[in-house]
Amino acid sequence: MLRRRASEFVTIGTGGVTGVYYPTGGAICRLVNKGKKQHGVRCSVESTGGSVYNINTIRAGELDMGVAQSDWQYHAYHGTGKDSFIKAGPFKELRAVFSVHAEPVTVIARADSGIKHVDDLVGKRVNIGNPGSGTEATWTLMWTKMGHADAKADLKLAAQLKSAETPQALCDNKIDALFWLVGHPNGLSKEATTTCDAVMVEVSGPAVDKLVKDNAFYRYATIPAGMYRGNPNDTKVFGVGATFVSSTRASEKTIYVVTKAVFDNFDAFKKLHPAFGNLKESEMIKDALSAPIHDGAAKYYKERGWM
Ligand code: GLU
Repeated sequence: MLRRRASEFVTIGTGGVTGVYYPTGGAICRLVNKGKKQHGVRCSVESTGGSVYNINTIRAGELDMGVAQSDWQYHAYHGTGKDSFIKAGPFKELRAVFSVHAEPVTVIARADSGIKHVDDLVGKRVNIGNPGSGTEATWTLMWTKMGHADAKADLKLAAQLKSAETPQALCDNKIDALFWLVGHPNGLSKEATTTCDAVMVEVSGPAVDKLVKDNAFYRYATIPAGMYRGNPNDTKVFGVGATFVSSTRASEKTIYVVTKAVFDNFDAFKKLHPAFGNLKESEMIKDALSAPIHDGAAKYYKERGWM
């Protein structure tokens, strides 16, 4: 008699298709699905609005895992940082799995707009991030800390297009700049800088210094010189880390299988995206994580002697 192991499913929420979350989720699922016959877990990936959507949907029990910025992992766990998280209260069942690449705050402006520094966005047409993105949530927090009354104050236009639509809008002169938090290099930034003349914008100043000083999940960051056409110099910004999160609802086995697939095949994993080049196992299991580690991930880390 032929026997089939009962399948368990794991669905990972990611982000827009030209970002880094989506290909990261895809890469992880491919590694998981290679071992499907042995462990019986089938992995699938969803393109979503980003960090805040992923956290909310995990909380609702409709996603098993998702990618989230380290700032929103922290704020969701503590019930802070944005109105809807404060209202919902601390998400105590949120669990961290591991962190991945750094996500610098990225502002790309039309070269003819004259925008060189984040302060120059005043009076301009800016895409601030789609609803549900970590991008929009971080924009709102940052812009208000910079002294503006709300997310849309002092802009000529606050657009909320999906990330994948923004390079075209920039190059068609519908917006002057786009804002988002993303690993580098990424498809969207390449598209924007090769379709028209577009420049990376410095994000610095007293409000940024205070954010970095007061919060462990922010750090200074640089978008490297020469990574994109027309951008020969380093760009000084600040940023967060991308992390994988889940909740206590996801089974120990499922999260163990996903964690093992990544770290047992670590060299292959690192080659799957150019933003992963600098990843180190020792940092991924603790940096940028503020929720407790999921039991399934902890089981694997203990087996490896890492915990
Ligand atoms: N950090 C972004 C967000 O949550 C998504 C970045 C990506 O898709 O790579 O809004």
